[in-house]
Amino acid sequence: MTVSAAEQEKTGLGNYFIANYPQFSFWNNSYLPDAQRAINSPPRPGVPLGLYLHIPFCRKRCKFCYFRVYTDKNASDISVYLDAITKEVELLSKTACVGGRPLDYVYFGGGTPSYLSATQLDGLMTRLRKIMPWDSAREITFECEPGTLQKHKLEMLRKHGVTRLSLGVENFKPEILQYNGRAHLEEEIYRAFGWARELGFPQINLDLIAGMVGEDWDNWKQCVEKTIKLGPDCVTIYQMELPYNTVFSKELKVLGNDEPALAVADWPTKRAWTRYAFDELVKAGYEVSSATTVVKSKAKTRFVYREALWRGADMFGTGVASFGHVNGVHIQNVDTWEAYVARLDAGELPLGRAFPTAERDRLIREIVLLLKTGHLDVGYFRDKYQVDIRDEFRAAFEKLESDGWLNVTGESIDCTPDGLIQIDRHLPTFFDPQYISSRYT
Ligand code: SF4
Repeated sequence: MTVSAAEQEKTGLGNYFIANYPQFSFWNNSYLPDAQRAINSPPRPGVPLGLYLHIPFCRKRCKFCYFRVYTDKNASDISVYLDAITKEVELLSKTACVGGRPLDYVYFGGGTPSYLSATQLDGLMTRLRKIMPWDSAREITFECEPGTLQKHKLEMLRKHGVTRLSLGVENFKPEILQYNGRAHLEEEIYRAFGWARELGFPQINLDLIAGMVGEDWDNWKQCVEKTIKLGPDCVTIYQMELPYNTVFSKELKVLGNDEPALAVADWPTKRAWTRYAFDELVKAGYEVSSATTVVKSKAKTRFVYREALWRGADMFGTGVASFGHVNGVHIQNVDTWEAYVARLDAGELPLGRAFPTAERDRLIREIVLLLKTGHLDVGYFRDKYQVDIRDEFRAAFEKLESDGWLNVTGESIDCTPDGLIQIDRHLPTFFDPQYISSRYT
């Protein structure tokens, strides 16, 4: 079936953004022996190690969310989970792939890590730091939902060394937040941000989503204005996608929609909103640092987690359904609560599926992920892979250049502003034919 250009620009069902390569649909449990081997082998020289912790609890499920999250767990369930994830980190800390490496970065993601109480967080972080200290890590990121924060909880995070606080604001308008299933209120954003500044977190990121249901130009402009007024160190702007298995994917008649009130904006509109936000933020002194982020200062505002991961660093992905990468092997944990807890109860790592990458897969993975920063350095790839990517991917670069999405100038490959904002849809141009799939997960 041929899909017309107009159809492609509607927000259809399925994932649009590229988060990994080869994509998740190619991972499976027949590769688990490769995962075991990778975990039980010493690390490749010079590769940093990170730790991701998936905290899968939320106050309510956002209608666009497709993550493995739970909204019905009580304090005793949470205690079981925190014991399990601590056990998982302990098992991993004893494996050969650590190889004496200290943690370079830690990321508490979700779900909603800030859903945990200050006491639960104190207990968890105290235990984790005894097993794998993070005092010398360059970055500890913690994702927050503004309505779950109290000042003493933030004080606890500071005490345990959190350096980067990421606030899931998404939008400021109460009706839009409510309709899309977000649990927080507008005033909670200002309160949380004020406390975070007062406590001196080194970096505060604020997330927005362009294209939430009910969004329009007037409100989007106000969201951008309010963001600039708050002045976070980093702003991340996602464009709304509609993956399968979300409340919206079931509720909305997306393709051929004749009920505009329920529609998600099309891709050109979301790109225009993102472009507007980037332009306004740049006018206010920010610098564009990727297809989704602007920062106050590129030199000072680093995002170690992203920089490391996109350059092929190792990362233990802990927690239910969590994703990691060790010694060239992609790994995902089992994706149900019951299986996750049972495996750790039995003293086993909860590995669910994996994919062993070849050298060429890793090269392509870095090209597509680093293109999201808007810049590729030919020399970096020559040093690391002994390949001139301009020759190796000549057809792909020529196509994107002639379409106006990037420029190749000597050793530097740079996305144009329009190219960067829609780079994800062009990344499959670099995929090897066997990894081109219409289904993302
Ligand atoms: S807060 Fe985040 S993880 Fe939780 S339901 Fe909403 S989008 Fe999903």
